Amino acid sequence: MHIGIDLDNTILDATSAHLQYYNQVSGLSLTPGDVNDFYIYRLYGWDDEKRDAVYHQYGHDIHWNSSPLPMAVEILQQLFLKHQISIITARPLLFHDVTVEWLKLHKINYHTIAFTENKLQHCIHSHVDVLVDDGPHYAEEFALVNKPVILYEQPYNLNVTSAFVYRASNWIEVKQHVDDLESNE
Ligand SMILES: [Mg+2]
Repeated sequence: MHIGIDLDNTILDATSAHLQYYNQVSGLSLTPGDVNDFYIYRLYGWDDEKRDAVYHQYGHDIHWNSSPLPMAVEILQQLFLKHQISIITARPLLFHDVTVEWLKLHKINYHTIAFTENKLQHCIHSHVDVLVDDGPHYAEEFALVNKPVILYEQPYNLNVTSAFVYRASNWIEVKQHVDDLESNE
């Protein structure tokens, strides 16, 4: 199968890294338990302009200092042996190099990598069979066109439900969904 896989809050813990730097900038001390919005900057009351300025300044460090989620690296290594793996991230191209270096550091193998906010169009064009992602808007968009998504569970995507959304609360469950989808092909 061709599997598309998101990075932030799917392969790695983006929440903790963002909070660390956003707390530093704002003087607030939010914790992961406070995060109930996919767009973390909104919890700080920032507008898009402020968010862009902070992200531009600290994005490199935020991305470099993120840790892989439990078992993500091990499962990805298994999946890579059997499947076509495409990393699909909405990060801007500005962070291409730090992203690729981070994947190398953590020994995550993949066949292709794409930087795009239009994941649905990219997946259709590249014949991706299933997307693994935490973004509620992507899950809803894919469900509308009957494309399966393995939704990596995060506090802000708990209310997304559809026949084409397979919920996973850890990487063992991601692997199980992949195996199930493969055996149903
Ligand atoms: Mg994500």
